[in-house]
Amino acid sequence: MQAVTTARVTEAIDFALVHGLLKRTPDGGLVHMPFALTPCPIARETAERLERLTGPFSHLAHSVSSNLPFLQEALGQVARTDQFTADLLKLAKASASTQTLQFQITRSDYFIQADPEHGTPRIRQVELNTISSSYPGAAAKLYALHRHLLAGTLQQAALLPNNPLEGIADGFERAFQIYGHGDAFVLMVVQPGEGNVFDQRLLELAIRERGIPVRRMTLEEIADQGELREGHLSVSGRIAAICYFRAGYTPDDFIPTEAFKGRELIENSSSISIPNAATQLAGTKKVQQVLADGAVLRRFCGDADAVAMEQTFARIYDLDEEVTTPGGGPQFAWKAAIESPREYVLKPQREGGGNNLYEEELVEKLTHASAEERKAYILMERIRPIPHLATVVSAGEAEEGTCVSEIGRFGVYLADESGELLNLDAGYLVRTKGHQVREGGVTAGFAYLNSLIAEDQTEAPN
Ligand code: ADP
Ligand code: MG
Repeated sequence: MQAVTTARVTEAIDFALVHGLLKRTPDGGLVHMPFALTPCPIARETAERLERLTGPFSHLAHSVSSNLPFLQEALGQVARTDQFTADLLKLAKASASTQTLQFQITRSDYFIQADPEHGTPRIRQVELNTISSSYPGAAAKLYALHRHLLAGTLQQAALLPNNPLEGIADGFERAFQIYGHGDAFVLMVVQPGEGNVFDQRLLELAIRERGIPVRRMTLEEIADQGELREGHLSVSGRIAAICYFRAGYTPDDFIPTEAFKGRELIENSSSISIPNAATQLAGTKKVQQVLADGAVLRRFCGDADAVAMEQTFARIYDLDEEVTTPGGGPQFAWKAAIESPREYVLKPQREGGGNNLYEEELVEKLTHASAEERKAYILMERIRPIPHLATVVSAGEAEEGTCVSEIGRFGVYLADESGELLNLDAGYLVRTKGHQVREGGVTAGFAYLNSLIAEDQTEAPN
């Protein structure tokens, strides 16, 4: 990466600050979100294919979450060694929820990989997030920043429009109306000391603009101040119509023992939970691996959707299944990974970044893990995305270098017992990072927010 200093960088940072593209630093200070100055090029056709995948993946998450015996079967062995998965399964099974309305806000993440054989780039899914799908607010503001920077150039017209806030907030409005308690509110379940608080606030504001009150609480606060009244979750005498989780995806959130009580309270109430425990489990890496089998996938969707989704699947294995090695012989996946660690990513059942193991860490873990421990992990083919040049800006400093980009598509999905009420793609998130960086988090400082620009029109005007 090479340092860059220009007036354009200063202008971009000022715009970011003015529009709330901010994060909190660990010492309580404020800094702009890391972002790319140069949008990520993509073929229009690939961008359209990505958008069309959202509906099938949202529907899939809903179908899987409605099938508890399947979740139990897929996750039973994981739950033996992984307490967090075990607790969520227990919660999903024991849930006395009377809630018939299912509301999902998902984000399906992808890399675009070159395909020398067919010429057209291949879409590769990284994962489907069913809990705490972050950055709808920051992505919307970043698109506004890029529009501003490219004003008056041909490139502005080539930027792919993005405003995930609107579609998501509209989903909240629709669900809130169906829940039907005038004096209710939306409860945003948050972590104490959240760094990505402004992304959440931007969504809060968009919901409030629709006349719906929003309150932020931690799981511990909910355990302390919430109670069940006639099946509803009540806080200070008002009913939480919707509980939207921006916490609860990591076991760390449950270290205060009270916190799990907060989670239980929500699950056992009539609140529309984004997500409920079953939908959270439907987004685990183990379930992703089990669904990579076409026959299993087809239990949950029609053939056309299955074909479209399957085309995006990278190879993904249970560690004790047999794979074919480059030499042609069969071998257990975990042994193949030890032999060719650069070809794989080892993933535990965790969300939120920083948990995956690569190369030497992968070898170390797999060499010593017992058969039982191996069940808590899945093995995924390492995707090698198409690199592109980018200028990225972090903490006031700009640098230029070879990067790769991960593209997420937000899905808004509402269903009741009679079927689907809403199944929309709300927009996208792009996270650009140095091509050798393994993890992907923006708030954690690995990646930079970005927008998409149609490749056929990225040339600057003469
Ligand atoms: P998390 O739930 O922690 O976000 P992910 O599966 O999304 O877990 O992995 C975190 C990051 O690791 C991704 O954002 C991506 O940058 C990288 N990553 C994940 N899977 C792969 C893969 N198969 N190949 C290459 N990079 C990957
Ligand atoms: Mg991820």
